[in-house]
Parts: sequence; structure tokens; C-alpha cells
Amino acid sequence: MNSDCLFCRIVEGSIPVAIVEETEGSVAFRDINPQAPTHVLLIPRRHVESLNEVDDAQMMGDLVRLAQVVAAREGLGDGWRLVTNVGKDGGQTVYHLHLHLLGGRRMGWPPG
Ligand code: 5GP
Ligand code: ZN
Repeated sequence: MNSDCLFCRIVEGSIPVAIVEETEGSVAFRDINPQAPTHVLLIPRRHVESLNEVDDAQMMGDLVRLAQVVAAREGLGDGWRLVTNVGKDGGQTVYHLHLHLLGGRRMGWPPG
């Protein structure tokens, strides 16, 4: 837990969010500024800055499994996208690892 970190405070419950699903190790909640009809953030409870710092394959596996469960629940049978921004050039603004689950519209490629 890093008290300066927005997403650690969300995990702790001190900042209210619309929770979609929770597991022992992860939390899924709706992005405050959605970029698609479904825009859910999947985060580990443990503070890890970004994909660059990941050292736990099980943690990543749990996040991807949670993405499958949420995508199914959101009715994204026509497809969806999972994105993680890493660092300044990757467009990361919150330095607690998160996967963006996006769906409910046709995605463009390449991403901006
Ligand atoms: P990044 O830019 O780091 O890839 O993604 C951070 C995401 O967190 C953004 O999509 C932003 O809208 C979302 N976000 C930032 N602050 C909050 C908040 O307080 N609550 C929720 N639900 N999402 C947030
Ligand atoms: Zn954190």
C-alpha cells in the first residue's frame, strides 16, 4: 500500500469507484472517463508501478482471467481490447499497474 497512490487508495476503499468485480488479488472498476461503452480498469491489489515492474506471473494471469470474466459479463462477444500504458511515451498517467478493458464499439487500429 502506497498512500500517495490513487489506485492503492481505491483498493483500500477510501476513494469510491464503481466496482465491477473483485478477487483475492485484483479489483475491476469502471474508468471515470470512459473511452468506450465498456471501459473497465483491472488492477492488482498489490502496488506495482507498471508492466515494467511485474515479477509475478500469477498476478498477471489473474488479471487476464478477470478480463475474460468481465468481458463475458459485459456482453462483449463481438470482441474487446486489453491495453496497458507504460511510462510517459506509453501514455501512463497513474503509476499503479492497470489494464484497460475496452469494448462495446469497433476499435480503431493503430491506436493513437
Ligand atoms: P493511464 O492514463 O495511466 O493509462 O490510465 C489511468 C486511467 O485512470 C484513466 O483512463 C483515467 O480516466 C482513470 N482514472 C483516473 N482517476 C480515476 C478515478 O479517481 N476513478 C476512476 N474510476 N478512474 C480514474
Ligand atoms: Zn498503488
